[in-house]
Amino acid sequence: MTNIRLPIAFVAFVFTVSANADDQAKPRPADTILLAGKILTVDARDSVVQALAIRDGRIIAVGNNSDIKKLAGDKTLSISLDGKTVIPGIVATHCHAVGVARGSLVRRHAELLSIADIQKWIRRQVKQLPAGRWIEVPRSDITRLKERRHPTPAELDAACTTHPVIFTAARKSVLNSLGFKITGIDDAKKTIPGLRVIRDDAGNPLLISGGGSYLRKFHPRAEVGEAETLAALKMVHRRYNQLGITSIFERALSTDQFAFYKKLRAANEMTVRTTATFRSSFRSGEAVEAYTKKLGMKTGDGDDWLRVGPLKITVDGGIHWGNTYLREAYGKKRIDFYVHDDPEYRGSLNYSVEQMTDVFRAGHALGWQMCCHVTGDGGVDAVLDALDSVDRETPLKARRFTLVHAYFPARDSIARAAKLGVCVDTQAPLYYKDSDAMADFYGEDWASRFIGIGDWLRGGVPTAINGDHMMGLDPDTSMNAYNPFLWLQVAVTRKNRSGRVYGPHQKVSRLQALRCITANGAYLAFDEERKGSLQPGRLADLAVLDRDYLTCPEDEIRRIKPVLTMLDGKVIYRAKTK
Ligand SMILES: [Zn+2]
Repeated sequence: MTNIRLPIAFVAFVFTVSANADDQAKPRPADTILLAGKILTVDARDSVVQALAIRDGRIIAVGNNSDIKKLAGDKTLSISLDGKTVIPGIVATHCHAVGVARGSLVRRHAELLSIADIQKWIRRQVKQLPAGRWIEVPRSDITRLKERRHPTPAELDAACTTHPVIFTAARKSVLNSLGFKITGIDDAKKTIPGLRVIRDDAGNPLLISGGGSYLRKFHPRAEVGEAETLAALKMVHRRYNQLGITSIFERALSTDQFAFYKKLRAANEMTVRTTATFRSSFRSGEAVEAYTKKLGMKTGDGDDWLRVGPLKITVDGGIHWGNTYLREAYGKKRIDFYVHDDPEYRGSLNYSVEQMTDVFRAGHALGWQMCCHVTGDGGVDAVLDALDSVDRETPLKARRFTLVHAYFPARDSIARAAKLGVCVDTQAPLYYKDSDAMADFYGEDWASRFIGIGDWLRGGVPTAINGDHMMGLDPDTSMNAYNPFLWLQVAVTRKNRSGRVYGPHQKVSRLQALRCITANGAYLAFDEERKGSLQPGRLADLAVLDRDYLTCPEDEIRRIKPVLTMLDGKVIYRAKTK
């Protein structure tokens, strides 16, 4: 029997079903029933029902109020939804919660949208930190800064001359004068291995690229303890619960990071069901064999709380760093924007097709699902070439290979992906925050394809949308926004932060969008029979919303908040009532 107190906002009452002669023949009553709601089941027909019943952490029935009431016993907890909308627990298919947890212990993330914001932020740090301490500006991509460029050293000096300051974006850093002096980069005669300096006509440094390990010597990363990290990780998971998230995919775990999850699982302290993605830089089939042998597990191992998902490799770069691998040369506009020098540059491809074929073949043979970080259309072509080779030897369709990111769907690659049973995990907040920069520096046609949710779905590619949450705790201003209702709004409206719409054909219906954060997420992890929809037999993970997702104004979708989140049939979060 569940042991939960009801949220004050709900009218709670307990049914007593009068005992009768055939009591023994009756199935055990439900632990909990939810009545009088608008329950979006996300089943195959997108059924909407009034009520559902839960027993032992699973849904045992859905239907109308009178049918579900019959399943109550004298100890059943009954929750009257008062017409509220219920959705399946959200499956956030791409996050880095361990990284977020660690980062939260080191420094507070801030979303800085202009050079003035950066200066203001630096001035605040100056007041708090002892002189001489390094000030590292939180990640602020040039695609999101109003000025669409790095700040100059003079602009950093204007905010601070007492502390060394470093700003990094698009894999290039700017330091204030004190920073350049301390690191010796101000000396035009000095060469530092691996570090390239762009100087003005007078020889003063403006921007540097490379030399990350050299710079780190001056401002080493803060160490954080295991116990602190574990506590912070639980806190991050609780934040997810507040947004109706009941399952996550950790999208790039090391084996050390996986150990945190094993601890949480062993202590019964998980509040999000987790699919673990293991990332490594395998270059060959033998490397995959060695890694997986050491791991001693494979896709599908584990239980409903912690399950082994896919292996992951990183195939290309990204639009923020200026190295997404494209079918075409970057050309002058993009070269100037990212401060590259070769207009023929197409981005960085970390693997040859032959290497990927070898890696994918090995994973496939060993029973692993695989996925890869790949952002550019040229990168996707290379991955699909490798998958085609593997598929010709041993059909791959059942493995649900997943393209992670795949920002720019092209008609031919969508068709190839669908044929191979390939799935996509793509990021709505990037469209929200970066699509204006895409239009300006790549062109409107690129912005129209960017995060092409409609294109993927129409092409029959199982697609999950998510945030790729990696730093910061605010649901909307974090890098990247982990507010799932923002993801839904972007998918439904295709409006970005400035209200512009690129590629209106990418819009999807509200129910399609909801499927992309529930059932499709479950599908990516072979969990569609366990979760992602509200049907008999599925885990009782769900969220009750404060407004009607199907009818509220579309620009309000991102403001929806769960009033209650249920995990495994128990209330894991409920909103405070005023
Ligand atoms: Zn990621």
